Amino acid sequence: MNRPLRPADTSFAHLIRQKNLIDGQWVGADDGSSFDVTDPATGEVVATVPNAGTDETRRAIDAAHAAFPAYSTMPLGQRVALMRKLHDAILDNLEPMAAMMTAEQGKPLAEARAEVASSAAYVLWFAEEARRTDGAVIPSPVAGRKLMTTRHPVGVVAAITPWNFPSSMLARKLGPALAAGCTVIVKPASATPLSALVWGHLAEQCGFPPGVVNIVTGSARAIGAEITSNPKVRKITFTGSTEIGKQLLAEASGTVKRMSMELGGNAPFIVFDDADLDAAIDGAIIAKFRNAGQTCVCTNRLFVQAGIYDRFVERFAARVSALKVAPGNEDGAEQGPLVDTQALDKIEELVADALSKGGDLVAGGAPHARGGLFYQPTVIAGATPDMRVTTEEIFGPVAPVYRFETESDVIASANDTEYGLACYAYTRDLARMFRLQDQLEYGLIGINEVLIVMPEIPFGGLKESGLGKEGSWQGINDYLETKYTCIGGL
Ligand code: ADP
Repeated sequence: MNRPLRPADTSFAHLIRQKNLIDGQWVGADDGSSFDVTDPATGEVVATVPNAGTDETRRAIDAAHAAFPAYSTMPLGQRVALMRKLHDAILDNLEPMAAMMTAEQGKPLAEARAEVASSAAYVLWFAEEARRTDGAVIPSPVAGRKLMTTRHPVGVVAAITPWNFPSSMLARKLGPALAAGCTVIVKPASATPLSALVWGHLAEQCGFPPGVVNIVTGSARAIGAEITSNPKVRKITFTGSTEIGKQLLAEASGTVKRMSMELGGNAPFIVFDDADLDAAIDGAIIAKFRNAGQTCVCTNRLFVQAGIYDRFVERFAARVSALKVAPGNEDGAEQGPLVDTQALDKIEELVADALSKGGDLVAGGAPHARGGLFYQPTVIAGATPDMRVTTEEIFGPVAPVYRFETESDVIASANDTEYGLACYAYTRDLARMFRLQDQLEYGLIGINEVLIVMPEIPFGGLKESGLGKEGSWQGINDYLETKYTCIGGL
């Protein structure tokens, strides 16, 4: 069923699934239509997957709904054992899953490996958390009553995931959903459906019953409309743009679903005069250029204090210019291609806008000599608030650097956005660290550290960056309902 792949990609050919998983069956779209998944580094077709729509989605929802009673009452020990098997299966397939992700998404192989490992870690974390979804016995203020709470899976969950982390974003949703006893329909991003489809294959191999995990690829609008309007779907968990998130919130209001939203960001990265400059530059490189700048926690705005500004810009620009831009599967690749031509066009527009408003180009600033979807890692010094990069999510390898004078000024600038996902600051002043913690309006705060996300922590944005938390003990809460019971007449 697989089309021939170019030789370099045979390491994962056996994992490619070119069908949708509905009720335990691998099926094509009803009308037989499909679309290609291409490698952004080469433009070559990696696979072809079904272009499903409303009817297929409805059947997937029906399957999840039918599977729910048995799955939600499966003994907890058995459910946990299935989750642990899934964790092991992901690790056993780490190398081909990483190679597949690099082929469909473009990120350097080292980043893809880390993402697959992190996906397994989320599954294990939630397998463990499933054992701790206990309720409470509430002391009764009146005689003859027992008051208690119990927790129950919400029901059928729809997970809509983005292309930038095609595996770990799914892990953060499938992990808690399956652990809580929910059944799931997954709608992966059309650019990167293969990493999601392989989860269906592994879930099936591990023994999750048919209908517990369903995966539908195709028209976002048609699939999304069915998910938001179908009363059998009790919860939607979405990671993607704020624009689509708002649309889903509005569409789902008709059936009052539980909603979890991981939306856009506009992360500030603040370097104070007293910072460890080497550490700040290392952090800025990772926080800006990981995944070619295409993450919602990527630095959008670099604010550097006046006393250290010139040294920072000079050294940062030198490091950025030396980054190795190459296909993700090439040795030593540090920045891969952008995901598609719209992304490349947007980056070109943002850079042109910043330069037309007086930005000082100190690194990059043009498509890369490799051609295609490769863009040079770019630094624009002398950035100003009127530039589009100040307010728009860049989602690419462009770093605008702003100069600031005082702590209060930079906190005001950092907070001057409707977003509130991640922020970073470098300083050695302990009192300032706590002021930043109090005053920065962000859900994730990294001080002298940028790789701050792991299963143990509650990932989630404030303001228009989202609703709910993924990871930590809180991450399973959104997949559980609390019932309160009063037993009287005792
Ligand atoms: P990104 O900028 O990361 O592509 P999007 O919000 O456009 O963010 O996409 C995130 C996910 O939401 C993808 O799986 C995409 O296909 C899906 N999506 C886009 N539009 C809709 C829609 N109208 N309804 C449901 N899902 C959608």
